[in-house]
Amino acid sequence: MCGVFGISNHPEAANLTYLGLHALQHRGQESAGVVTSDGGTLHAVRKMGLVADVFSADLLRSLRGRVAIGHVRYSTAGGSLPKNIQPLTAEYRHGAVALAHNGNLVNAENLRDELEADGAIFSSNSDTEVILQLMARCSEPSLVGRLAWALAQVQGAYSLVLTAEDKLIAARDPHGFRPLILGRLRQSPETYVIASETCAFDLIEAEVIRDVEPGEILTIDEQGLHSERLREAPRRFCVFEHVYFARPDSVLDSQSVYELRVRMGEVLAREAPADADIVIPVPDSGVVAALGFARGAQIPFEMGLIRNHYVGRTFIEPKDSIRHFGVKLKLNPLPGILEGKRVVVVDDSIVRGTTSRKIVKMIRGAGAREVHLRISSPPVIRPCFYGIDTPTRSELIANSHSPDEIARYLTADSVAYLSPAGLAEAVREGPTRAFCHACFTGEYPIAFNPPTSRRQLRLVEL
Ligand code: AMP
Repeated sequence: MCGVFGISNHPEAANLTYLGLHALQHRGQESAGVVTSDGGTLHAVRKMGLVADVFSADLLRSLRGRVAIGHVRYSTAGGSLPKNIQPLTAEYRHGAVALAHNGNLVNAENLRDELEADGAIFSSNSDTEVILQLMARCSEPSLVGRLAWALAQVQGAYSLVLTAEDKLIAARDPHGFRPLILGRLRQSPETYVIASETCAFDLIEAEVIRDVEPGEILTIDEQGLHSERLREAPRRFCVFEHVYFARPDSVLDSQSVYELRVRMGEVLAREAPADADIVIPVPDSGVVAALGFARGAQIPFEMGLIRNHYVGRTFIEPKDSIRHFGVKLKLNPLPGILEGKRVVVVDDSIVRGTTSRKIVKMIRGAGAREVHLRISSPPVIRPCFYGIDTPTRSELIANSHSPDEIARYLTADSVAYLSPAGLAEAVREGPTRAFCHACFTGEYPIAFNPPTSRRQLRLVEL
């Protein structure tokens, strides 16, 4: 769960990256970083915190160069620690290199064991560093050759941007789990941009050229754009990007996220209707699907919960104590809307059930007569190993409980989920548009052995 951004050939590379990262902030709020390249030298600013807090005008001015990459992070592998902030940088015999990664490598621990046995010293405990360590061991003369050699050995999900030698490189794993899009600035078409989501392009007035293809390495330099292929593999774009993670104003995988979410709500209304007076969303994650549900069911849409936008996503806080407290901090019910009503509440997913339980109780506390929870995706029954942060299998409430049991736990009158077939219909799944839905089915596109060693955190920087 991270966002990446890259830009080539622009005098305001750092400022445009800073803006792009603002648009990608929903993909990670733990830390942010920008690295620029001014030919021979890389300049880096990386800190814990939100984009707006990490950068000052002075820092942005000191980020010199016409090429930049940026990253916002929410940790899935490696702790939420300063040493893991991206873009990662390294100096090796070919010069300096910076790398920003969205996704999760499933064989990173095993590769790291081998590299350490061979004498490598790691400076982070992020899976991404394995790619840099492999590049340093490669005898290929070209930068792209070294990257391709490293990527041939890693397995899992990666959408990455890299800068070195005044080049901007973007690469996407052969399954294409995580999004990565190529665009160009409308005002200066010779400036290429790369981003996790198109909402970053809208902000800086860039237009979409196309997705970086699964298994593609794109190099952008003074000679223009060159494309090379890694190996072929079946496409498996993450369906959870469409369900929850991406911003609804993005176009991913050639589809409007907003439109697909409306369809999820419409199909859900058909599959799991409820006798109710109003439909309300859990803001913001359930808003667009709730619109679709209300439209499909022909029940009035209301905002029964008001969100305080100045508090981060509650689930995203790593500590349990803060998460529990966070629900009240974030959402306030409107008794004037809810009192005496039979309410359909729409959200995109239930993970542990902790937040949903508090929300249902909050809505009842505001006077709702009935609460029917409708979820615009199938039950999450397995953890993700490809870059979405989910708890372990035993913590996933739907892994061990039926919808009726979940309804009792949440104190809801009913709970119903979108079916797997309903989700496939909503996202227009077909033979040429296949998704990864391992979190809903347990069918993991990449088989992998659990890591041989569970690495202990050995250095904590305060
Ligand atoms: P809970 O009831 O505690 O399972 O929380 C459900 C809420 O978590 C829903 O509003 C989802 O939008 C949200 N959610 C689902 N997956 C994630 C995730 N990977 N990271 C953060 N929030 C999530």
